[in-house]
Amino acid sequence: MTTYLIRGARPYGGEAADILLEDGRIAAIGRQLPATGAEVVEAGGLVALPGLVDLHTHLREPGREDAETVETGSRAAARGGFTAVHAMANTDPVADTAGVVEQVWRLGQEAGLVDVVPVGAVTVGLKGERLAELGAMADSAARVRVFSDDGHCVADPALMRRALEYVKAFDGVVAQHAEEPRLTVGAQMHEGDRSARLGLTGWPAAAEEAIIARDVLLAGHVGARLHVCHVSTAGSVEILRWAKSRGVQVTAEVTPHHLLLTDACAESYDPVFKVNPPLRTDADVEALRAGLADGTIDAVATDHAPHAVEDKESEWAQARPGMLGLEQALSVVVETMVETGLLDWAGVADRMSVRPAAIGRLQKHGRPLAEGEPANLLLLDPATRASVDPAASASRSRNSPYAGRELPGRVVATFLRGTPTVLDGKATR
Ligand SMILES: [Zn+2]
Repeated sequence: MTTYLIRGARPYGGEAADILLEDGRIAAIGRQLPATGAEVVEAGGLVALPGLVDLHTHLREPGREDAETVETGSRAAARGGFTAVHAMANTDPVADTAGVVEQVWRLGQEAGLVDVVPVGAVTVGLKGERLAELGAMADSAARVRVFSDDGHCVADPALMRRALEYVKAFDGVVAQHAEEPRLTVGAQMHEGDRSARLGLTGWPAAAEEAIIARDVLLAGHVGARLHVCHVSTAGSVEILRWAKSRGVQVTAEVTPHHLLLTDACAESYDPVFKVNPPLRTDADVEALRAGLADGTIDAVATDHAPHAVEDKESEWAQARPGMLGLEQALSVVVETMVETGLLDWAGVADRMSVRPAAIGRLQKHGRPLAEGEPANLLLLDPATRASVDPAASASRSRNSPYAGRELPGRVVATFLRGTPTVLDGKATR
């Protein structure tokens, strides 16, 4: 196994140091380390961070390999600085059995670019009718700890309560896609002045907030862990803040696109901006950034949702919701949180690596950059600004909402257990 000496990187944006990677671990961090036998990676001026962990990735395999595969999605993840991603369960077949989660887990191992951590469905076929084999998935080789019907809300409160109670047995967490379905029938975009003017059916903030309010009460009542996917409204942040102040075991994530984009994007009628939950208002964006900064929102999660061209390049009403996110997630966080002074680099590491790893109960990720720790890390050039070109994406899909937008920060290298998955900005395999 090749030994790497990273020369002159700035761990967490601090003082320059050399980082020696040996046998999958960080063997040493210090000034002027000898390069004896090691391959040298010149990293002057680059920020070193722990490898990012995504709680919310759609890899589309099995079932929609025309949109993404475990391998292509893993490559996009590595290029974005990720070393672990949670693969959502809404595949075809649905990841609701030990067999399917083990298949996804194995495909991730074979690709070898990031650790692919399968999410198990909460209910059979994501139908919201009866619980899936949660225990069997937890005991499988994939060791599932995060369960979600993402794409669908577990709308039945009794079923949600039973899921929360069940996952306590193996320290699991239910990740809820908070959307009261009766309030979003036919919804196309955020419900407000713009939806009225554009003549598109609205998705009211209350449909998200009502489910979060219900679920934090349930989680508090049964003493279970709840995670809220892609929080998108100011009201949701307030409910989470209240629940945390009461000691409820609730965590939450926000997507890069909800930190940057607003419902003004819908004015273009370009379906690349159609997403669920929808892009919200300036006031919501401001509240989400503040909530992420003060820790009310624990993590940034991409909700990377690749779609084949025919599913996305159609009229707004027919287009599937969802957008790419893995490759630009860190850049968007740099723009919205670092350059605005809301988070420092340690804060970025916390929200994009440490806390998501803790929520997913991943032992080997989200670890500090320190001697003896697993060598999962990335090197970022924070100063470079470049225009996003979807054609250059490692994803099989092209539905990037950032096409043509200039964003700061370039991931120069990613290391998974001491082996580079990205070098000079390019995937190594
Ligand atoms: Zn969702």
